[in-house]
Amino acid sequence: MQISENKVVTIDYTLKDDTGNVLDSSQGGPGLAYLHGASNIIPGLENALAGKAEGDSLNVSVQPEEAYGQRDDSMIQTVPNDMFEGTEVQVGAQYQAMTPEGQPLTITVMDIKDDGVVIDGNHPLAGQNLHFDVTITEVRDATQEELDHGHVHGPEGHDHG
Ligand SMILES: [Zn+2]
Repeated sequence: MQISENKVVTIDYTLKDDTGNVLDSSQGGPGLAYLHGASNIIPGLENALAGKAEGDSLNVSVQPEEAYGQRDDSMIQTVPNDMFEGTEVQVGAQYQAMTPEGQPLTITVMDIKDDGVVIDGNHPLAGQNLHFDVTITEVRDATQEELDHGHVHGPEGHDHG
């Protein structure tokens, strides 16, 4: 079965940066399952997988524009220390936050000063070329419920509890 809109695709992948450092990998886990055509994964990877089939392996290099975007210095802000009250803040620590539009956002603590905490709201992989080694382990039709929700259900996917 080939990958096209409304297929559920499971991949094993290793993600490296320009210098060959491994940034992320599905090794040792069940793999990554996503709903093709639903923007569950970055556009550069989704586009490269279209038309491929179960058992195919490919190397995909993705520019920032097709991944997590360029870095934006306006995303670096100083916020009051009391926003982190009750948390032991450390430089380099990452937190999940929400934008005012309700989009999930990863923020990274850059510096801690007397008058505030400097945070960076750029995605940790913004501005980077991403290199994926991908093997497609399964392609199946999505269920109607998965199409309605826009994401994968089941062991490797999303669980409604
Ligand atoms: Zn769901």
